[in-house]
Amino acid sequence: MAGTSVRGAADGSVDSCRSQHCLDEGQLKMLWHQPLRLFRLANHLREKSCGDFVSFVVNRNINFTDRCVGCCKFCAFKDHAGYTLSTEEILQRAAAGEELGATEICLQGGLAPGMAVEDYCEILESIKDSHPRMHLHAYSPMEVLHMSRNSGISVEDALRQLKQSGLGSMPGTAAEILVDRVRQDICPQKLTTNQWREIVSEAHLLGIPTTSTMLYGHVETFEDRLSHLEVLREIQSRTKGFTEFVLLPFIPGNTPLGPYSRGCDLLEHLKMHALARVALFPLITNIQASWTKLGRDHAAATLHWGVNDLGGTLMEENISRSAGSKEAQYLSAEEICELIERSGKRPVQRTTLYSRV
Ligand code: SF4
Repeated sequence: MAGTSVRGAADGSVDSCRSQHCLDEGQLKMLWHQPLRLFRLANHLREKSCGDFVSFVVNRNINFTDRCVGCCKFCAFKDHAGYTLSTEEILQRAAAGEELGATEICLQGGLAPGMAVEDYCEILESIKDSHPRMHLHAYSPMEVLHMSRNSGISVEDALRQLKQSGLGSMPGTAAEILVDRVRQDICPQKLTTNQWREIVSEAHLLGIPTTSTMLYGHVETFEDRLSHLEVLREIQSRTKGFTEFVLLPFIPGNTPLGPYSRGCDLLEHLKMHALARVALFPLITNIQASWTKLGRDHAAATLHWGVNDLGGTLMEENISRSAGSKEAQYLSAEEICELIERSGKRPVQRTTLYSRV
């Protein structure tokens, strides 16, 4: 949108959206303080990018262990129940997912002590052996770093082995806020902004797409959120490997960070989703709201202001629930379709990589 004014962009004129350049930080800040313009522009760009379609994926989430050597202050999941699923238990969950029509298994866990690349590969291979057509969306950049350290190999080698074992794509979690000052406070042992950038870029280079995410509503400033979005824009303009951007509101319950986090009201959630659409246009087409963190009604409200994807049916979700989320662990495809239709949009079931099912 270079060469056009924010006023022009907010008016939603076709001319204002012709350019392939993104709004700069000053323009984004100005829009943040003019919510009506922000909402109008976000809705216009959503419609321009995706029409009236709102997508979702039928997936089965499996959090295979909560054992973790990490110490993230926003986490209520680590060692909550002290479990590690056996291969047999993982396969039972995958089979239950397939029976309900899942096209994707999403695998994430804590950083279990000593867990090496072979262990992560074995999980992928055993699911692929029984469910060869299932897309495996697995392991955050932090898990990749953890396994490569435990195995004494490079991140690149770890990623190659995972891909060989059936990895289809990765969640771009562990991003939290990509500003090292904030990371030092909320997750001091986690990978740095640069390490996150390098691992995700390496994955993209090897043909492993990832999502991108942001955990917001704790101690970060508005400027930190803008810096985070700028990191994503920089990566995407080089690699084009992000399939979507997922906003993850912080859930404070049972976490050390909870008592001193700011939190967000509904208006701020809506503005943040709208800002993401505007800031990432035209680099990232799909902006996703998390129904499990926002609650289904608030997630549906974001569909009017920039969001075009409601993520997955999940079937099991332990991370938000450990932090006090009261939302269900499973929304059926029918329930998601109903939610989307009630918002006046057209539901479409997609694959992990955004083809239609
Ligand atoms: S967020 Fe992940 S890495 Fe951090 S403590 Fe929790 S389970 Fe461990």
